[in-house]
Amino acid sequence: MEKYEVIKALGQGTWGVVHMAKQKATGRLVALKKIKSERLEEGINFTAIREIKLLREFKHPNIIELVDVFTTMDFAVCLVYEVAETDLSKILKDRAISISLADTKQHMSTLLCAISACHDRWILHRDLKPDNCLFLKDGTMKLADFGLARMYGTPKTRLSPQAITLWYKPPELLLGASEYGSAADIWSVGCIFAELLLRRPFLQGNQTDISQLDTIFQVFGTPNESNWPDHGALPLCTRGLEWDDCPPTHQFDEIFIAAPQDCISLLRSMLVLDPNKRFTACQCLSHPYFANDPAPTPKEKLVLFSD
Ligand code: AMP
Repeated sequence: MEKYEVIKALGQGTWGVVHMAKQKATGRLVALKKIKSERLEEGINFTAIREIKLLREFKHPNIIELVDVFTTMDFAVCLVYEVAETDLSKILKDRAISISLADTKQHMSTLLCAISACHDRWILHRDLKPDNCLFLKDGTMKLADFGLARMYGTPKTRLSPQAITLWYKPPELLLGASEYGSAADIWSVGCIFAELLLRRPFLQGNQTDISQLDTIFQVFGTPNESNWPDHGALPLCTRGLEWDDCPPTHQFDEIFIAAPQDCISLLRSMLVLDPNKRFTACQCLSHPYFANDPAPTPKEKLVLFSD
């Protein structure tokens, strides 16, 4: 800890307060995340170890850099990151900042580049949401918080369905899937895309997985043999949970009233009930949406703060 001078608190996370600090030797500003173990005998916290393992060798222009790691006398692990100025959640909530279609295209392009790099290395992020899309002073988006991230592989690795924040959670996890893959992250990216267009979270269930499923099914219709052939094998379905048949809403275009057709088309390719039919990050990046006008706003022209 003696290598750093703490300056101020940046935000509250699951593991405590994240502080801005100055690296004494270089003068570089960093973000310090201290992760404590509940009890000494637990040793170093698992979340910290996962995040260190995944981020240590991972250098990508749109993934937060892990600058340093050290332990303290009280057995806490301190993760030291490059420091960000703001995040997408704050931008979305600041009504004085307008988010144009060109800004949205820039955000989607960088987010998809970052998640595509993760999936290429068989890493699932599992907590994609606006709060975890940080921005540096120069407008560069950096994907952060790899505390829930996992390696996955084929044949599909068994994973806990207890991942991803509720409003960004895909239907297969809500139905209890323990074998899932990169399509789970793509659903979350689709929810972020929709939120950028609407300026509010798109699928706002009411605290429970069942309520979240109801919210999703009201828009996309209930799963059936034609739109999602394998859904019946998922734990909640085998336990007999059933929904009244409901068709998809025909007003999808009317929900995203200001969005052009290419934008709606890409969004629809991400938010598909059946994970096997969802676009991959690579397919999303090749969608005509990114080549069509308007061109993405250059990152240095993005408005990150209101006056
Ligand atoms: P986390 O524990 O990763 O959820 O972080 C908690 C909060 O700390 C976030 O919501 C941010 O406000 C802030 N934070 C985390 N990492 C950074 C960073 N690298 N730069 C600036 N702020 C950060």
